[in-house]
Amino acid sequence: MEEIQYYRPTKAVIDLRAIQENIKQLREHLQSDVQIIAVIKANGYGHGDIEVAHAAIQAGATILAVATPEEAVHVRSHISNTDILVLGASPVSFATYAAQNNILLTVFSKEWVEQVALLQLTNKLKLHIKMDTGMGRLGITSTYELQHLYEAIAATKQMELDGIFTHFATADEKDTQYFNEQVKLFADMLQVLPVKPRLVHVANTATALVKDRSLQLDAIRFGISMYGLAPSHYVAENLPFPLKPAMSLETELVHVKKLAAGQSVGYGATYTAKEDVFIGTLPIGYADGMLRKLTGQTVLIDGKRAPIVGRICMDQCMILLPKAYTVGEKVTLIGTQQNVTISLDEWANKLDTINYEIPCIITNRVPRIYTS
Ligand SMILES: *Cc1c(COP(=O)(O)O)cnc(C)c1O
Repeated sequence: MEEIQYYRPTKAVIDLRAIQENIKQLREHLQSDVQIIAVIKANGYGHGDIEVAHAAIQAGATILAVATPEEAVHVRSHISNTDILVLGASPVSFATYAAQNNILLTVFSKEWVEQVALLQLTNKLKLHIKMDTGMGRLGITSTYELQHLYEAIAATKQMELDGIFTHFATADEKDTQYFNEQVKLFADMLQVLPVKPRLVHVANTATALVKDRSLQLDAIRFGISMYGLAPSHYVAENLPFPLKPAMSLETELVHVKKLAAGQSVGYGATYTAKEDVFIGTLPIGYADGMLRKLTGQTVLIDGKRAPIVGRICMDQCMILLPKAYTVGEKVTLIGTQQNVTISLDEWANKLDTINYEIPCIITNRVPRIYTS
């Protein structure tokens, strides 16, 4: 990829070794014939789809998964050989490109198959049937539909049933009742198929890490923990191996000033110095994903926590410095300095959300810089 010169010091640093380490650890945990599908949707959970894909393939992943046709096209324009599975819905109009470029599509409608059959594809289109066993999202819900969908695919030479899968709603929770119902429903519905397709897969990260190994089946869809994050507190407490977070968020002080007691900071003048203080200005704001709700969150400078003061602006925010640091001093918003860590989970807690959302909200204005 082309070298871009960055002038602003704000960057998301992605440790590709951490991603590879997480995959290698998973590999040890899996039975030997289980394939790893690296889930790189949403630009690799905000980490960069192409770089993550290359690292994942090197570490042993054999299939890539994305959410949308556009994501598949983007990945295919950089990576020519590896299978790419589109987990979400694809329109009939995407079938021709998919067949020509070895993109595996998710299917859950007999009518869709019949319409694709009219296209007279010259390359074989590989399909994965999606079963809805309890997510209530995509997928067929009955053996009747499965039977008819299967027959529609079998009736055409242009399409091939390559896989069948389902997705769990509660795999990351301690309670197993709903999960077990989904497992059973999937197993029962599978009986309808006269032949087993190449890839039967049900496990997301949580299932692969904390559920019975028999659910690894032919492949597991490894998402959040490839990036070094646990799917939930429950999974975090029951991990079979330690995870290495891949993303840190860093910047530098671009201005340092002394405020006298009584002077204020930011829009609305919501922070007023009670005594003489040093304020540092950071070139990162809510347009970078540093949401205004993070007001009061701390950052790391010189291995110590310093609080954000005043309202976070679109492009900048201000921190209360423990002393007069110089411009250019490194500031870590997410990551580790001298054994002190601010995790993505800390941000997620502060924002009342899950860690999945955090790397996704770090916007494109923040360059992803890779170390390996
Ligand atoms: C996103 C997604 C995954 C990956 O989930 P993780 O919890 O990140 O492992 C797996 N399967 C499907 C269908 C998905 O949409």
